[in-house]
Amino acid sequence: MKEIRNLVAGTWLGSERTWVKSSPFDGRPVARVNEATREMIDAAVAAGKSAALGEWGAMAVRQRAAIIRDMGAKLARRVDDLIEADMADTGRSYWQACNFDGKRATTLFETYCDLAIGLEGRTNGFQGEGGFRGLWMTNRRPKGVIACIAPWNVPLLMMSLKLAPALVMGNAAIAKPSEETPSSTTILAEVIAQSDIPDGAFSLLHGFGRNSTGEMLTSHPGVDAITFTGEPGTGSAIMKAAATGLREVAMELGGKNAALVFSDCDMDAAIEGTLRSAFFNCGQICFCTERAYVHRSRLDEFLERLVTAARAIVIGQPHHDGFSIGPLISTVHRAKVMELVNSAAAEGGKIETGGRIPEFGDARDGGAFYEPTIITGLSDRARLMREETFGPVIHVAPFDDEEEVISRANDSDYGLGAVIWSQDINRCLRVAPRLRVGHVWINSWQIRDLGSPLSGVGISGVGEQFGVSSLNFCSQQQTITVRIT
Ligand code: NAD
Repeated sequence: MKEIRNLVAGTWLGSERTWVKSSPFDGRPVARVNEATREMIDAAVAAGKSAALGEWGAMAVRQRAAIIRDMGAKLARRVDDLIEADMADTGRSYWQACNFDGKRATTLFETYCDLAIGLEGRTNGFQGEGGFRGLWMTNRRPKGVIACIAPWNVPLLMMSLKLAPALVMGNAAIAKPSEETPSSTTILAEVIAQSDIPDGAFSLLHGFGRNSTGEMLTSHPGVDAITFTGEPGTGSAIMKAAATGLREVAMELGGKNAALVFSDCDMDAAIEGTLRSAFFNCGQICFCTERAYVHRSRLDEFLERLVTAARAIVIGQPHHDGFSIGPLISTVHRAKVMELVNSAAAEGGKIETGGRIPEFGDARDGGAFYEPTIITGLSDRARLMREETFGPVIHVAPFDDEEEVISRANDSDYGLGAVIWSQDINRCLRVAPRLRVGHVWINSWQIRDLGSPLSGVGISGVGEQFGVSSLNFCSQQQTITVRIT
């Protein structure tokens, strides 16, 4: 079995505590993973401090960018290994591991280098009361050691979105991937270890959250900032840890995202889009639609077509080249999804399709598969309407008018994303700004320039992320003033 170790300041380290990561596709063991120890965390932070305060942090951004670009090019040459690793850890299809995660992640380093080189400071002259004249200029310094904590749903992309801005701004980055997806970040670490990025500027620490690596890292006083993607409950625990020492946090958290399907929508596009937005990656994307509100005049048509399309989704064929889904990340996660679906049935919901574990009659029965599930009939107060499912489950409900659907879509503790399906552009642009969410898609879903910012509302996020926003988070504005007369 493959052995996955920690990388601390250039040295690969095993530990006495290990766990076996198994595949959600068929339950077979994928790798033995070594859990980081407190000593490794101390060493990674200490090495990170020296790198960020030393030559790496002081280097001109163009020079650092050249080193990172070179690393990104080497990473791109290992894209097949990255795809294989993510397929093994998550059970997802080849297409998805390739196009949604692997290739996009490898190009991100280039993107962030371009953005960082384009960052400009401000400058202005001024005159003091005594008649002297001065000039001030701003300069962005690295923050120091940044803990990068990623979830399992899009493992390499999520981690790269944290590492690229942290490194290009001259910080030391400490990567803590999810315990469910240790493999692709370890390949990235191998590439970084062979690049010109100094040893201390990057460490990789494996482990769990509570009472393990995640908690020890985020509560470490030497960590200067934390960038986290995951569940709001974890975000809250990390924020408490970060309060000691007043360390800054940036968080992308969950969603309970609504789709608003108006009577004037292009129904073909709305069905195709909602099918993808509800079931892509088996519903394990933070922007997945979990609540569809459909104008009453089109409800029957929408529901019938969505149910037919959901029943036709290919499950568990990783090399299928159309739209297909793989398993949930684990049988533990599947149990959570099933518990929520059962709560919906108990609260008066009708399962229109799905709600079952598919039977294959082969090794996949040892995996974590779950059928695409469509539910109707719940009140907006039902648990399934308020808690994130993070699985292939969508509820469809009718609405009668625009004001009503805006208010029902906004009735959530979450505020991550929403989709509007309507051919009336005036309506779309009238409704979009009234939705209390970080990102609204109009007649599309998840087409996304990774340089565009995201700022989740409510329990969906803290701060602004991506593109220049991430570069700002990963650096500290400094003002330098000089007296010139
Ligand atoms: P999670 O919160 O369970 O874990 C995320 C990471 O945090 C893992 O690496 C985990 O080990 C670590 N962790 C857990 N407890 C910790 C603690 N106390 N201290 C420090 N680290 C800790 O999330 P998950 O189950 O891996 O991912 C699914 C969640 O992520 C969903 O809620 C989803 O919506 C969210 N998500 C959000 C976005 C976004 O952009 N908003 C993107 C992807 C996923």
